[in-house]
Amino acid sequence: MKLKNSINLLFFGPQGSGKGTQTELLAKKFGFLHVSSGNTLRSIAKTKTPLGRYLKHQLSNGSLTPIDKLMEVFEAYMKRTPKTKNILFDGYARQITETRIFLRKLKKFGRQIDLAVLIDISPIESVKRLGKRGVCDKCGKNIILGGKLKVGGKCPACSGKIIQRKDDTPAGIRKRLSLYRKRTLPVVNFFKSHGKIVRINGEQSVEAVHRDVVKVIKKRGLI
Ligand SMILES: [Zn+2]
Repeated sequence: MKLKNSINLLFFGPQGSGKGTQTELLAKKFGFLHVSSGNTLRSIAKTKTPLGRYLKHQLSNGSLTPIDKLMEVFEAYMKRTPKTKNILFDGYARQITETRIFLRKLKKFGRQIDLAVLIDISPIESVKRLGKRGVCDKCGKNIILGGKLKVGGKCPACSGKIIQRKDDTPAGIRKRLSLYRKRTLPVVNFFKSHGKIVRINGEQSVEAVHRDVVKVIKKRGLI
């Protein structure tokens, strides 16, 4: 299977939806360029430029990057990207004002979103999945909790203590989820009104979700 030239897909989904895994799989299978807002920010943050230094400080704070900086990085990145490349955008649907700015910038590069893919899971499933996420407070390794691997237990890699991020406690997750719903619902409605959204059931195995995504892209004539 070969993709047509310059296909642009936008991926989004709530915390714990497995969006990261799915974008990686798809990028690998079809040779998409995976443009994740997080990755592009982190790569610029490593450079010794004023913007790089600003972002490094900002990312270490854990605060949301302002839209103008996000777009500055995005534009620099797109300038280096060949026009015929198929791209999978990830992390540009955080809220409708940002998405609109993103789409305008994209247009400047002669591109438009062909399909917005929402990998969806219920809030209950989100809480369940994220509640299983632990982290080592010494080496920072992510740990899936279960059996001996529990909060307060020992990290298998370095014997450090397993803790849970504040964000990943049930109360923290619920707060993030309600914010997510509030912010992304207008984005969903926007793409819906343009007939460019598809919702994939994320409460299936990784393989089944991947199969559904591929099926949809085929059906839309994008492959
Ligand atoms: Zn450790």
